[in-house]
Amino acid sequence: MMGRRIVFDLEWNQDYCANQYDYYGFPERFRGEIVQIGAVCLEDMQPFNLILRPKFFPRLHEQVAGLTGLRQQDVDGGVEPREGLRRFLDWCGEGAVLLQWSGCDVLVLKQNLYLYGLGEDFPAESYDIQRMFYEQLGGDKPEPSLMEAVERLGIPRKRDYHDALADAGYTAEVLGRLDLKKGINKAKKPLRALRRYGEKWGEGQELRLFTGCLSRESWRLSPGLCRVECPVCKGVLEEPEHWQKSPDNRGWYGLCRCPQCADSDSPAANGVVLRWKGSQTEQLYSFIRGVSLPDGELLAEWQRRLAAARKRRGKQSCPQVTESAGRLYRPLYTAQTQMEEEK
Ligand SMILES: [Zn+2]
Repeated sequence: MMGRRIVFDLEWNQDYCANQYDYYGFPERFRGEIVQIGAVCLEDMQPFNLILRPKFFPRLHEQVAGLTGLRQQDVDGGVEPREGLRRFLDWCGEGAVLLQWSGCDVLVLKQNLYLYGLGEDFPAESYDIQRMFYEQLGGDKPEPSLMEAVERLGIPRKRDYHDALADAGYTAEVLGRLDLKKGINKAKKPLRALRRYGEKWGEGQELRLFTGCLSRESWRLSPGLCRVECPVCKGVLEEPEHWQKSPDNRGWYGLCRCPQCADSDSPAANGVVLRWKGSQTEQLYSFIRGVSLPDGELLAEWQRRLAAARKRRGKQSCPQVTESAGRLYRPLYTAQTQMEEEK
C-alpha cells in the first residue's frame, strides 16, 4: 500500500570545512545538518514546518544565513534535532513517498536520520521532481532551479525562496503541472533493470531489492542488508572470507558458511551463495541481493577462486572496512560521539 505523498524541502547548515561521517566504519561525505524542514502533504495539503537546533554545526554558516534568511537566534530556539526528525517521521507516516526538488534533500535527510540514530530506511521511496520537470517539459538545462521552473510555468510568487516551507509549496505547485505517475514509472526504470539482472542469476534464487541506501558500500556494511538468513535453517550466515567480482565485472558474489548447516547433511552444508549488484539512483544506492544454494560446478570454481585470493595476500580485490577505518576522517561525527558528549 502506498503511503502519503509528501513534498518536502530542507535547509541545512554546514561547517567551514568539509566533513565526513562514519557510515558503519566507512567514511562518507557529510552534506550538512538540517536546520529547517518544510513539507506539504499532497493528500490533504496540510503543511509541516519546523526549525531544528543544529548540534554538529551549532554556528549558522553565514552563507546559509544569507540564503535562507534564518538568524542564529532562530536556530538556537529550534527543536532538538532528534526530536524534530522524529516529529517529521510521525507526521509523514509509514510508507510515505517523499518528493523533492533535486536529489540532494533526501540524501541529507537520510544522513541526518542515520547520524541521529533513526536508521536509514525512511523513506523507502523518494522521487526527484526537478528531473521529472526536465523529462516532461524539457528546457535548456537539465537542472533548472526551483525559481526558474516556477517562473516558466507562470506560477505567482507568493513567498521568498529558500524557506523550506515556501520551497515545498512551490515544488508542490510545479508538480501539479506534471504527470507524477509517469515520472515515478520512469524513475523506477533502474530498479526494474536491477531486478532483471538478478533474475539472470538463475533458478532457485531468493531475490530481494534494497532501495534508498546511503553508500555504495551499504551492501556489505549496513546490517539491514548484510545480515542474511540461511535458506534452509533460517540461521544467520557468516560473512564470506572473500568477495569475488562477478564474471561480467558488475556485481559481487561470495560463498557464506552457515554455522548450523555446516558439517551436517543439510543442503546448505557446503555453504550458501550470496550475490550482489548495486546501482546509483538519484544520489542514493539500490541493490539486488540473491541467495541460493551452490551446485558442484560453482563449488569447484569457488575453491579455485578462494585459493587464488589467499595467494594474493594483501592485494584485496574488494576494499576491506578495516583498512579504511581510522584514516581520511577529519572531524568525525557519529551518533555515538554525540551521545557521549551529552553525558
Ligand atoms: Zn543453515
